[in-house]
Amino acid sequence: MINQPLPSENPRSTRLHPETLAVTAGRPEPVADAPLNPPVVFASTYVGAPDTDSATIGYGRYGNPTWQALEEAIGALEGGRALTFASGMAAAHAVLELVPTSGVIVIPYNCYLGVAEAVDRRAARYRWQVRRVNVADSKEVLAAAQGADVVWIESPTNPTIEVADLPTLGKNLPSKSLFVVDNTFATPLLQRPLELGADIVLHSATKILSGHSDVLLGAIVTRGDDAQTFEALDAIRRSFGATPGAMEAYLALRGLRTLPLRLAQAQTNAQVLAERLVDHRGVQRVRFPGLPTDPGNELARRTMSGFGSLISIDLPDAKTADAFVEGCSLWVFATSLGGVESTLERRRRWSGELQSVPEGLVRLSVGIEHVEDLWADLAQALDRGLPG
Ligand SMILES: *Cc1c(COP(=O)(O)O)cnc(C)c1O
Repeated sequence: MINQPLPSENPRSTRLHPETLAVTAGRPEPVADAPLNPPVVFASTYVGAPDTDSATIGYGRYGNPTWQALEEAIGALEGGRALTFASGMAAAHAVLELVPTSGVIVIPYNCYLGVAEAVDRRAARYRWQVRRVNVADSKEVLAAAQGADVVWIESPTNPTIEVADLPTLGKNLPSKSLFVVDNTFATPLLQRPLELGADIVLHSATKILSGHSDVLLGAIVTRGDDAQTFEALDAIRRSFGATPGAMEAYLALRGLRTLPLRLAQAQTNAQVLAERLVDHRGVQRVRFPGLPTDPGNELARRTMSGFGSLISIDLPDAKTADAFVEGCSLWVFATSLGGVESTLERRRRWSGELQSVPEGLVRLSVGIEHVEDLWADLAQALDRGLPG
């Protein structure tokens, strides 16, 4: 299993649908009485081999059979080669390591807070020029990309749920800019950025890919023909040591097996809830690309195979939003997202959250519970906030 071929070379992975790959990818060759699925392997130390080369693991910071199984599965779903990390942020920092001193980086106005903070911190130290863009405006992104070393796009964005035109960006971005797409919200089931011209796909596998709110894990995927970027990121992981735990990799792969089912149910729930939230007079705005009124609707229809399981709603102010979150009981008040459990939070409760995110914005991560139970809980909490 350690030396299994890359997903792209693996005859079992090429023509299969994502639903099948999610179940089969990363499994060892079937051998009588061997476990069907890869077991969790705890090892810092491997027995030495006479020739230390890339065919051997060598040491626990360089590789692990359980990571490799998960990497095969994520790589097969995204259509590239995956490297897993201790967290989404560890993966993000590995990518940021590729931006040179005095480099130019393009990032979204609205994107995951931790990424925005990491860019700002490095920008000061390495004299980067940071250009912030609205990801939904391709002209703006393409103009900012001139001379950029890295163009970092998140789509849909966290927490404002804006959609970028990945096919247009992939076709028109300068070839010398590294095109990075944080695909955490869409997952490879809804869009595969590497096929659209991205050089690097980033995941917080903590979220929807793992799906059970019990794992911190990150992943980077590069194109099968781009050994240079893959090797650069592998070298960074080896050196920085932000490696995943074997248990985490095991749990993530186990979670990934049901990703298509979980996402399908969560997405169906999200569509129903978004349509009802639009009609509720306590809600000022619903941000969900599955609504015909959403600015991202036409684009998402054209470029994604689904609208995802994240909805953000704008309530009048922080006080109303906090009372709404507190008024829910089935929906769990929690940061993070993408679990089987529905969770919600007012994003600006974090003092570092970007000022462009409205004070009354509540992000809802829709789970797989019965949609009527989810709606009943939201509706009673919203109704309570209405002036009597
Ligand atoms: C959570 C998140 C991250 C960071 O991932 P961690 O696993 O929490 O380190 C990066 N990007 C997006 C879009 C996220 O939602």
